[in-house]
Amino acid sequence: MESMGICAICGEPAKLYTCSLCARHVCSGCFDETHNVCTGCL
Ligand SMILES: [Zn+2]
Ligand SMILES: [Zn+2]
Repeated sequence: MESMGICAICGEPAKLYTCSLCARHVCSGCFDETHNVCTGCL
């Protein structure tokens, strides 16, 4: 299920992904789908 909200890293409204390490909700630009983590944890 997709969720819309504000990215915890860049602050842009977007479809959000949940980082598997820090559990922050981030946009596709701030998320690495290969590792399932945000760019802050990458
Ligand atoms: Zn972002
Ligand atoms: Zn993270």
